[in-house]
Amino acid sequence: MMPEKVKHVYFFGEGKTEGKAEMKNLLGGKGANIAEMTNLGIPVPPGFTITTEACVYYFKNNQKYPDGLLEEIEENLKKLEKVLEKTMGDPENPLLVSVRSGARTSMPGMMDTVLNLGLNDETAKGLSTLTKNERFVYDSYRRLLTMFGDVVLGIERIHFENLLEKKKEKQGVKLDYEITSENLKQLCEEYKDLIKEKKGFDFPQDPRKQLKMAVDAVFDSWNNQRAKTYRKINKIPDDWGTAVNVQTMVFGNLGDDCATGVAFTRDPANGENRFFGEYLPNAQGEDVVAGIRTPKTIEDLKVAMPKIYDELVEIYKKLEQRYKDMQDIEFTIQNEKLYMLQTRNGKRTAMSAVRIAVEMVDEGLIDIDTALTRVDPSTLDQLLLPMFDPKSKVEPVAKGLAGSSGAAVGKVVFTAERAVELKELGDKVVLVRNETSPEDVGGMHVSEGILTARGGLTSHAAVVGRGMGKCCVVGCGDITVNEEEGFFTVKGQVVKEGDYISLNGNTGEVILSKVDLIEPEVNTYLEKILNWADEKRKLGVRANADTPSDAANAIKFGAAGIGLCRTEHMFFGEDRIPIVRKMIMASDKDTRNEYIMKLLPFQREDFTGIFKAMKGYPVTIRLLDPPLHEFLPNRMELQEDLIRLEYENGSKEKIKEISNLIEIVKTLEEFNPMLGHRGCRLGITFPEIYNMQVQAILEAAVDVIKSGGKVSPEIMIPLTGTFGEMKITHDNAKAVADDVLAKAGMDIPYMIGTMIEIPRAAIIADQIATEAEFFSFGTNDLTQMTFGYSRDDAAKFLPTYVGQRILKDDPFVSIDTEGVGELVKIGIERGRKTRPELKVGICGEHGGEPSSVKFCHNVGMNYVSCSPFRLPIARLAAAQAAIEEKQGKSRHFDE
Ligand code: ADP
Ligand code: MG
Ligand code: MG
Repeated sequence: MMPEKVKHVYFFGEGKTEGKAEMKNLLGGKGANIAEMTNLGIPVPPGFTITTEACVYYFKNNQKYPDGLLEEIEENLKKLEKVLEKTMGDPENPLLVSVRSGARTSMPGMMDTVLNLGLNDETAKGLSTLTKNERFVYDSYRRLLTMFGDVVLGIERIHFENLLEKKKEKQGVKLDYEITSENLKQLCEEYKDLIKEKKGFDFPQDPRKQLKMAVDAVFDSWNNQRAKTYRKINKIPDDWGTAVNVQTMVFGNLGDDCATGVAFTRDPANGENRFFGEYLPNAQGEDVVAGIRTPKTIEDLKVAMPKIYDELVEIYKKLEQRYKDMQDIEFTIQNEKLYMLQTRNGKRTAMSAVRIAVEMVDEGLIDIDTALTRVDPSTLDQLLLPMFDPKSKVEPVAKGLAGSSGAAVGKVVFTAERAVELKELGDKVVLVRNETSPEDVGGMHVSEGILTARGGLTSHAAVVGRGMGKCCVVGCGDITVNEEEGFFTVKGQVVKEGDYISLNGNTGEVILSKVDLIEPEVNTYLEKILNWADEKRKLGVRANADTPSDAANAIKFGAAGIGLCRTEHMFFGEDRIPIVRKMIMASDKDTRNEYIMKLLPFQREDFTGIFKAMKGYPVTIRLLDPPLHEFLPNRMELQEDLIRLEYENGSKEKIKEISNLIEIVKTLEEFNPMLGHRGCRLGITFPEIYNMQVQAILEAAVDVIKSGGKVSPEIMIPLTGTFGEMKITHDNAKAVADDVLAKAGMDIPYMIGTMIEIPRAAIIADQIATEAEFFSFGTNDLTQMTFGYSRDDAAKFLPTYVGQRILKDDPFVSIDTEGVGELVKIGIERGRKTRPELKVGICGEHGGEPSSVKFCHNVGMNYVSCSPFRLPIARLAAAQAAIEEKQGKSRHFDE
C-alpha cells in the first residue's frame, strides 16, 4: 500500500481556507492566525503556508524537501495567480509576494521577512507602467534587494545601508522617502552590483528561483545563532521548526493614502483597556518596528482616515472576542483599503498581564482559572521591582518614550558583548544603542535596562524589553550615540562606557547618575489576582525572614508564616559581634558560657519582635548554622594590621591581641568550610550555643503570650545527616524548652524539626522523622551536595553546562527534578512512613521559582517558603499547580 500523501501546503484567502487558529503547531502561529482571520471574514491578502513539518523534515534530511513539496508549492502558486488574476514574472501584471517565517509561538524579530518577491528588472519596468508610479516600484525593488541580500544571501545589511546613506547625502536629503525615483533606480543597480561582487553571481531574476531560495532561507533561519539564543532564553524546543508564509503583497508605500502600522488591543505597558498603536504613512513593512522614523499614534489615524480607523476598531474587537486575549496586530492600508497582516497574543509587561486578566474576568470574557494561567508567575516580581525613590533628587537630562516599566541603574555599555563581559565581572550595566536588533538579545538579557536613541513604543527594543520585564527607554532623540567609539552625547555632555546612568521605564526619564531605588507597593489588580490564587492553591506559602521588618514584609505579601528565620545574622549586629568573638576565643568552657549567656537577651529580643510581627503564624527558627570563623575578622586583613602596627611601633598589648586573634583564626580555618564544622556539628560540639538559642526562643514565646500575643515556634536543626545528630540535638532542645516552660508555668505548643539538606538525611528520613516533627528541604545545600557543585564557584562552569545542554537549567535556580527532586520525594515518602502527619516544606531559593513550586505541589509538600518579594510568584505558581492538577495536566515530576 502506498503511504498516505502528507499535505505540506495550506492555502488561505479568497475561496477555501484550509487552516484555522487551532492548527498552530502545524502552520505556526502566524499562519494559523492569518487563516483564522480569513475565516472570520477579515480582509487578509491571500497566500499559502508551508508547514512546520516540512521544516522539520528539511533538517532531518540534510536540507532536502519532502517529496512532492515543490509540486505542492507550484499548485498553490497557480491557485494564487488565478485568484488574483496576476502572474509571477509577468511584466504586464506581476504577482508579488512576501515570504515570512512563523513558528508555533511568536519569536518577535527573530527571523526575517522578504517583501516584494517577484520583482526583477522586467517586472519592475512593467509595474512602473501599470502603476504610473516609478518611485514606488524602485523603492520596493531596492527593499527586495536589501532583504534578499541580507536574509537569503547573507550579505551584511550595513553594505546596503551605506549605499543608501551615500545616495541621500548626494541628493542632500535626510529621509528615505525623499529620495527621487531616479536615484532609487540607480540604487537598485548599485545593489545588484554589490550582490554580484559579494556572491559572485547575479541577483536571481527568475521569481520562482527567488521564491525557492527565500523558502530555504526561512527554514535555515530556524537554526541561526540568534534564533537559537532566543529559544534558549525563552525555553522553546529546538525541534518545533518554523512554517513559511507566502502571501500576496499589499503596499503601504504607494502614496499618502497608504500606511502601515502595528497596534495592540489593550495597552501593553499598563493593561488599560484602550486601543493602542502606531503607524507610518506612506511606508512599507518593518519601517514601524525598525524605528527608522518616529511613527504617528493611532489617534492620529482617527483624524487622518476616520473610516479606516472605525474598521480597524471593529476588527480588533472581533479578534479579542475570538481569541479572548489581548492581540498584537499588523495592518497595511493600500489606497485607503485596509488589510490585516498578522494577529497574535500580544506581549505585555507583568503589570499589563495582571490588569488584562482581571478585567477580562470582569468583562465575562474568561473565567478565573484562565485568568490565573494567563499571568506568568515569574514576571510578578517586576511589579514589586525597584522604582526610583521619590525622596531622591532626580534631574533628568533627557526624556525618551517609556518602553517598558521599572527602573534601572548601571554602568553604560554600547554593545551587547560588552554588556555580557561586564556583567560576568559582576557589574550592573545599562545597554545604550541607537536601536536594538535581534543580535542584541543576549546583551539585553543581562542588562538592568535598555536605552535607545531611535524607535517607537513598538520598536524591537521596547517589545523585547517588555517581554523580558526589563526597564526600557526608547526613542530618546536627545542623545546621540556613537557605538563604535563607545560614547554618547546629550545636551553637550559626553557619557562614556562605565559611567553611571539611571533610567525610569515608567516615565522615559534618563539621569546621568546613580538614583536610589525603592521597592514598590502591591497594586489592586495584583491583589485581586493573588486573592483568586489563594482560593485555588493547596500549598501553604511562607517567607524566609530574619528580622521583624522582613517579617512585616512577609505578612504584607501574603505569607502565612516564616519558613526560615536564620539566626546567624543576629550574631553580626554591632553590639553583638564583640561578644560573639569573645565567646569564640574563650579559652575555657566557663568563660565561653559566660559570653554565650550575654547573647541571650539580644536573641530573646529578636525573637520577640519576629513573633509579634507574625501574630501567631508559625515561625521556623533555624539554630546557628555557619562555621564559627565567619564571625572572626579576615586573616589577611589581620596580618596586614599586625605588620602595620609593628612597623609603626604600635602598643605591645594591641600587637599581642592581634597575634592571638590570628592564631585563633588559624585554628578555625578549614579546607572546605561548607563541608566542615558547621550546623548541628557545631551544636553537638558546643551544645551551649543551641541551648541558649532555644532558651531565648521559648522565653520570647512566654513573653509574647504574657503580653496577650500568640506564638507558634518551630525549632529547626540544620544540616542533620544521621539519626544520632537528630536525636541528641532534639533531646537537648526539648530539655531546655520544657525547662523554660516549666519555670514559667506555661504550656506553649512548639515543634522541633530539621532541615533536610544532606542527601543522607533524605535517604534515612524514616529514622530522622522518629525525632523530627517537621522537615524543611534546604534545597540550596541539598543541590550543592547532590551535584557536588560549590554554589559559590559554580558560576565558572554552569553557564557552559546549560549552554551545552549538559544541564537543562541552572539547578540552583530551578529544582533538578531528576536528582535533587528524587531525593526530596524519597525524603517525604520515608519521613511520612514513620510520621504520617509530618509537616513538610521547602526553604531554599527554589521556593520562589514557579516550576519548582509546581514540583513541591506535585510531591505533596505542605508549604513553600521564599523571600518576601517572591511571595506573589509562589502564590500564583501554587494556584497554577492546583489548576493544572484539576485539569489533569499535572506534569509528572521527572518530565
Ligand atoms: P515578524 O514576524 O518579524 O513580525 P512579518 O513576517 O510579520 O515579521 O513581516 C515583517 C513586516 O512586513 C511586517 O511589518 C509585516 O506587516 C510586513 N509584511 C509581511 N507580509 C506582507 C505583505 N504580504 N504585504 C505587505 N506587508 C507585509
Ligand atoms: Mg509581524
Ligand atoms: Mg543549609
